Amino acid sequence: MSKIVVIPGDGIGKEITESAVEVLKKADAKFNLNLEYEFKDAGGTAYDKFGMPLPEETLNACKNADAVLFGAVGGNKWDNVKAELRPEKAILGLRKGLNLYANLRPVKVIDSLVDNSPLKPQLVKGVDLVIVRELVGGIYFGDRCESEIKNNSERAWDLENYSVPEVERITKLAFETAKIRRGKLTSVDKANVLATSRLWRRTVNKIAENFSDVELNHLYVDNCAMQLCVNPKQFDVIVTGNLFGDILSDEAAVIGGSIGLMPSASIGELTSLYEPIHGSAPDIAGKGIANPMGTILSAAMLLRYSLHAEKAAQSIESAVEKTLADGFRTADIYSDGFNFKKIGTVEATQEICKRI
Ligand code: NAD
Repeated sequence: MSKIVVIPGDGIGKEITESAVEVLKKADAKFNLNLEYEFKDAGGTAYDKFGMPLPEETLNACKNADAVLFGAVGGNKWDNVKAELRPEKAILGLRKGLNLYANLRPVKVIDSLVDNSPLKPQLVKGVDLVIVRELVGGIYFGDRCESEIKNNSERAWDLENYSVPEVERITKLAFETAKIRRGKLTSVDKANVLATSRLWRRTVNKIAENFSDVELNHLYVDNCAMQLCVNPKQFDVIVTGNLFGDILSDEAAVIGGSIGLMPSASIGELTSLYEPIHGSAPDIAGKGIANPMGTILSAAMLLRYSLHAEKAAQSIESAVEKTLADGFRTADIYSDGFNFKKIGTVEATQEICKRI
């Protein structure tokens, strides 16, 4: 028995997690996965019920789960809530509480969606890469000063620091990810300027000695940002620190054509959390038109990384691809004049289930 804690959250979170659980149930029936679900609150919904965005009970349930499936949190309703109680604080609380040290964001351009990409079809057809971002270190978690006076001027500062064990942990995961894919790893840093990047590069090179079957190269972050636009097909796995990863993973996500399609995994030492990259989309919440595919593909990642159910993961991924290839489109990826069939969240879920 594997226990999955489901946190629907706010806005479209409820609709999209419902879809993903239905798909997981279908995969369970086919592949005998023996899954059990426990639903918990977080975000604005939890604030309304308990006065806090991440109740202790939710965090404890996650700590005891085999994996966590997360929808999205936030919305205008909570705009005037105190900063430390805002719905989005639940995400940071989960990252910290579960020590989710690595964020994996795959970007796979599905053939039938190449025209949705802002890049030319010939550049994006066949793109299949994963960005592995360090998530609990670097400048986001270093010391900072909001304001001080030095030499008669006001200044602020944020401290970037990385330790060797922090870099080793994320690098090993990135090499292991590359090993089960096409065996190519690109490490991204700014070693021509930053001391932390030089330590990063030295550490990556040392870990590489244990992964002779993976081809490693290094890129400066500015070059990597450019290469993602001019030749994204060259990448298999990219590993980088927290700040560079934040920026590059959003840049890479748009190559796919719709944020409604993009999954992610945040890997921890206790358990791991899986969620679509988009937010709670308050503008379309409750209308039944949200694209559930990002969450469904996150559920496939959950099966792959937390439950090692590779066949079931692949069957979900190919069911999503077939649904799209058969012309079914939710509103965010629909366009007139292509013989597409416009469907809502529930129909999209049914079509995917049929193809598992
Ligand atoms: P958003 O991702 O929620 O929405 C941006 C646009 O994309 C909207 O037009 C929305 O309708 C559309 N969209 C998003 N997901 C979609 C889907 N599955 N199907 C179809 N269309 C989709 O970003 P935002 O509007 O900047 O933020 C809304 C709220 O979500 C804010 O409160 C923000 O803080 C929060 N947020 C939460 C997370 C999270 O929970 N991980 C991430 C980002 C933003």
